[in-house]
Amino acid sequence: MYNDLEKVIINEKEIQNKVQELGSAIAHDYMDKEPLLICILRGAVFFFADLCRAIDIPVQMGFVSLSSYGHGTTSSGKVEERQKLMADVQGKHVILVEDIIDTGLTLEGYGANLMNRGALSVKICALLKKPEQKHKIEIAYKGFDIENKFVVGYGLDYAEHYRNLPYIGILKKEIYS
Ligand code: IMP
Repeated sequence: MYNDLEKVIINEKEIQNKVQELGSAIAHDYMDKEPLLICILRGAVFFFADLCRAIDIPVQMGFVSLSSYGHGTTSSGKVEERQKLMADVQGKHVILVEDIIDTGLTLEGYGANLMNRGALSVKICALLKKPEQKHKIEIAYKGFDIENKFVVGYGLDYAEHYRNLPYIGILKKEIYS
C-alpha cells in the first residue's frame, strides 16, 4: 500500500497529538452538556473512535452515512441520509465528526436539518480541510489544513482501498488517473 503513495503528509504521532488537542478543546467547551458526537460514516470512523476517547467528559455517540449529489451550485437540500441517523438529536448539543471538508457540500444544510429535528446546537469537527471550500459551513474544531491533493488513510479511501493505513498520505496520480 505504501508504494501507492506519493508521500505521507501526517504521521500517526501527529494525528494522535492533534486528536488529543481537539478532544481537550471539546471537553472544555461542553463541560456540562454531554454532547452527542455523530460519526459521518465511513471515512470518519477511526478519527471518531480516537476523538471520543480523547474527550474527558461524558459523550453520546451517533452514526450516519450521508450522500451528496452534484457539485458547485447544488443546493443543500440535496444531501440525504444514505443510512439513517442512529441517534435522537432532540434536546442535544450535536458535534458532527467528519474526516475531510473539501467543497463543504456534504455538510452544508445538514446542520440546519438537525436543528429542525430539535437539536439545541450543531457544530462541526473535521480532521482535515482542503483549501477550496465553496459551500458556507463553519468548522468549529479543525485538525489540519492540507493542500488540494487526493489523500487516503486513517479512514479516507480511494475506491474503498487504503482506509486502514494508520497515517495520511497523498495518493500517486497514476493510481487514480
Ligand atoms: P465535500 O462535500 O466536498 O466537502 O466532500 C467531503 C467528502 O468527500 C469527504 O467526506 C470524503 O468522503 C470525500 N473526499 C474529499 N476529498 C477527499 C480526499 O482527498 N480523499 C478521500 N476522500 C475525499
